[in-house]
Amino acid sequence: MVDSHTHLHLCEPPDDELVAAALAQGVTRMVTIGTDVESSAQALAAAERFPEVYAAVGIHPNNATGFADSDYTELERMAQHPRCVAIGETGLDYYRDHASPADQAVAFRAQLEIARMFGKPVVIHTRDADDDTIRILDQHAAGMKVIIHCFSMGSRIDECLAHERWWISFAGNVTYPKNQDLRDAALRVPAERLLVETDAPYLSPQSQRGKPNSPALVAQTAQALALERRVSYHDFNLEVESAAQAVFGW
Ligand SMILES: [Zn+2]
Repeated sequence: MVDSHTHLHLCEPPDDELVAAALAQGVTRMVTIGTDVESSAQALAAAERFPEVYAAVGIHPNNATGFADSDYTELERMAQHPRCVAIGETGLDYYRDHASPADQAVAFRAQLEIARMFGKPVVIHTRDADDDTIRILDQHAAGMKVIIHCFSMGSRIDECLAHERWWISFAGNVTYPKNQDLRDAALRVPAERLLVETDAPYLSPQSQRGKPNSPALVAQTAQALALERRVSYHDFNLEVESAAQAVFGW
């Protein structure tokens, strides 16, 4: 199994404990995601230390205030690291007001540019901003590999799937009883474009709700998705590993 989106730097246990616990649950690879320049450097350091860990470097939309030329230069430099498999997470978040929509859009377009420059996929965060997020992707990310992280646009799944190089990544919230729309959406995603993630330490799957999430728990979300899609865990595991390999290119 692959945890396509985790934040080792935000989890409380030390990285070696988190990685060992994940391996014990059959997680073979994980992508740890930077949310600013400093945590992107930490993500690369974790990826250098653990063969199972890869990094994404980027600036989260909530951290986009004052995005500067120096941030661009730093990301551009880190994007060339051999263990960097994606750019982001980036996108738009109108739910929180940590950064203005204008600042978020500047940082978003800059990261799309860097991802295109190095042929890397871009990891997208979108919250209460789906129209603008999709519009910017249509304008600036044509032909690029796009990962919709923590997919939560249930009603727009067909529109997302119409973009041939978009991968759909499901997090622990797909296991919450009220989110039937997400489980319905998960049934529509072709196996080659379906990813699973934790977004740890956030969004623990149902059985662990209220407690901090960790990469090991991706197996629970994956089990719920396999059940929903009526495939064995064995087969689902192979499908997810091959989808992740296709998008991250490892
Ligand atoms: Zn995240």
